[in-house]
Parts: sequence; C-alpha cells; structure tokens
Amino acid sequence: MICLRCGNCCLLLDIFIVNPRSILLDGHLDPEDPWAMIPKPAGERCPHLCREDDHAVCAIHHLPCYQGTPCHQFEQVGPEEAACVMFCFSRKNIY
Ligand code: SF4
Ligand code: SF4
Repeated sequence: MICLRCGNCCLLLDIFIVNPRSILLDGHLDPEDPWAMIPKPAGERCPHLCREDDHAVCAIHHLPCYQGTPCHQFEQVGPEEAACVMFCFSRKNIY
C-alpha cells in the first residue's frame, strides 16, 4: 500500500506502538524491557508522529525496532501499488 502520509492512522488506530523509552542507541528495542510495546488508544496522537513540511512522518520508521510492529504490518495491508484509502478522508490531515 502506498502511504499518502496524512498521519490519520497514527491518530485514529487503537494499536500497540514502540515505547519511546525502550529504544536503545542502536535503534533496537531493549529485549529485557517488559514495556517495550505500549498501547496507543484510538484518538490519541502517537508520540512518534512528526510533521515534515505538510506531511506526516514516523520518527522511528527507519529504525530496526519498527520492523515487525503492528504499524509495520498495517503498512502492508492492501495491494502494493494502491494508495491507502483507510483513513485518508479527503487527504486532509486531521491530527
Ligand atoms: S492513513 Fe494511510 S495514508 Fe494516512 S498515514 Fe496512515 S497509512 Fe499513510
Ligand atoms: S509508530 Fe509511527 S507509524 Fe506507528 S502510529 Fe506511531 S507515528 Fe504512526
């Protein structure tokens, strides 16, 4: 799925995210930390959500700790060549 970077899923989804306090200097998660993944309730802005120009950016998208997370799996929903339509209401940022 092609992400249009509206950032709406990072606000609207009820999802488990990487705990910002659990990221090691090398970008991995602390394997000993029982709170390495924390819930992000629907309607609450994810702490990793940033803005770059007029686009949403995930601050941990490039880090190894992001791999395999529910967010990473969410990116793979839908056809690879199709734009995301799930939360892109009029392509307008609502966060
Ligand atoms: S709702 Fe879709 S287009 Fe918007 S940031 Fe999330 S994945 Fe990307
Ligand atoms: S971790 Fe990144 S992709 Fe997941 S909700 Fe937060 S900002 Fe969005």
